[in-house]
Amino acid sequence: MKNNHCDVLIIGGGIIGHSISCYLNKSGVHAAVVEKQASGGKATQAAAGMLGVHTENEGVGKYHQFCEKSRDMYTGLAQELRELTSIDIGLSHFGMMEIAVKDEEKEALLLKKSTFRNLEWLETPIDRIPSLSDKASGALFMKDDGHVEPRQVCESFKRAALLYGGDLLEDRTVLRVKNNQGSFTVHLDSCSLTAEHVVVASGAESGQWFETTGLPNPIVPTKGESFSIKLRENYFNEALFFRDFYVVPKPDGRCIIGATSKPDDKTTNTSVGGLSSLMNLLFSLFPEWKEAAFQDFWSGIRPGTEDGVPVIGEHPFISNLYFATGHYRNGILLAPATGQLIEKQITKKPIDPSIQELFSPSRLAEKGEWTYEYSS
Ligand SMILES: Cc1cc2nc3c(=O)[nH]c(=O)nc-3n(C[C@H](O)[C@H](O)[C@H](O)COP(=O)(O)OP(=O)(O)OC[C@H]3O[C@@H](n4cnc5c(N)ncnc54)[C@H](O)[C@@H]3O)c2cc1C
Repeated sequence: MKNNHCDVLIIGGGIIGHSISCYLNKSGVHAAVVEKQASGGKATQAAAGMLGVHTENEGVGKYHQFCEKSRDMYTGLAQELRELTSIDIGLSHFGMMEIAVKDEEKEALLLKKSTFRNLEWLETPIDRIPSLSDKASGALFMKDDGHVEPRQVCESFKRAALLYGGDLLEDRTVLRVKNNQGSFTVHLDSCSLTAEHVVVASGAESGQWFETTGLPNPIVPTKGESFSIKLRENYFNEALFFRDFYVVPKPDGRCIIGATSKPDDKTTNTSVGGLSSLMNLLFSLFPEWKEAAFQDFWSGIRPGTEDGVPVIGEHPFISNLYFATGHYRNGILLAPATGQLIEKQITKKPIDPSIQELFSPSRLAEKGEWTYEYSS
């Protein structure tokens, strides 16, 4: 990096940090990512990669629109990133299905169908997926949703950003950021850099950057555990959703089953209890899969927020300091739109004011008592 200086320094090399870097460098703003371990090794590697616009939204609104926009950006990105980096991001266009077993689940899904456009009700989902239990009383088919391979998306954003002229420092930790009123000095474990802007994209570890800049910490780290099996044949291509649990078939024959939800659990082990609860749900949907070959298991910490909405935007009192964090279960879905939103904010391009307001960190400062303790 020339003179240890960049226009934008991004703290965190997960899917969000690398998406931001990609969009900024593409538009001619020199951005550098600092990642304390290897890129994409935290929440990003744990994700199933669902682009679940309709599983993640109960109603139509600005957040739903942002999710839809980000999902749709993947179509163009898949081609752009493949041409640029030769990486296939594994975009699946087969849709998602949300399964009902109980009467109240069926009612809730039919209500959802009437809320959104383009959803289809399947009275007998077993016709489509013969290995499904006959207890399934119907399914909502969301044909426009799908899934990607999160690690490949992160890696391709990373490589694209470098090809567009960006920088990356891995195995380096950002320890402290000093505000020089107009620029920043960023202290790493091994050296110092200067930057005109800083973006906090450090996932579940973002909390400290709110606290040290005088804002209440909204981050709720929420552990999720998953496992995968290898099937002898591809029984179906749609991702299935059932009571916050999902089955995502990947083109290589792996099937990802997830995920537990454990708020404020920051441990990295994958528990026997967590996996057995997922297996019980799996066997209730697919009784014949008990003989499937177990493949792998893992966990990750989702960056949740207290109000369930990501924090994307400029610090209310420190100019040029941005947050892009708190994406909870939707960081893969929202990575493209988040990268583009931060790029537009930093380059002062026009933005829908209601989107800016929805994600703004200013909502944290408005939440009662807080003290500004940040010292330069
Ligand atoms: C089990 C599970 C399943 C999921 N499934 C889905 C899904 O299907 N669809 C979906 O959309 N989302 C899903 N998610 C959520 C998604 O994974 C996250 O929202 C997303 O990965 C968050 O990305 P991130 O870049 O903010 O965080 P991370 O990927 O955690 O990256 C943050 C990075 O910052 C680095 N860092 C932290 N502090 C510092 C520092 N001081 N200096 C330098 N680097 C630092 C960390 O090392 C890390 O690499 C799932 C999550 C889990 C756990």
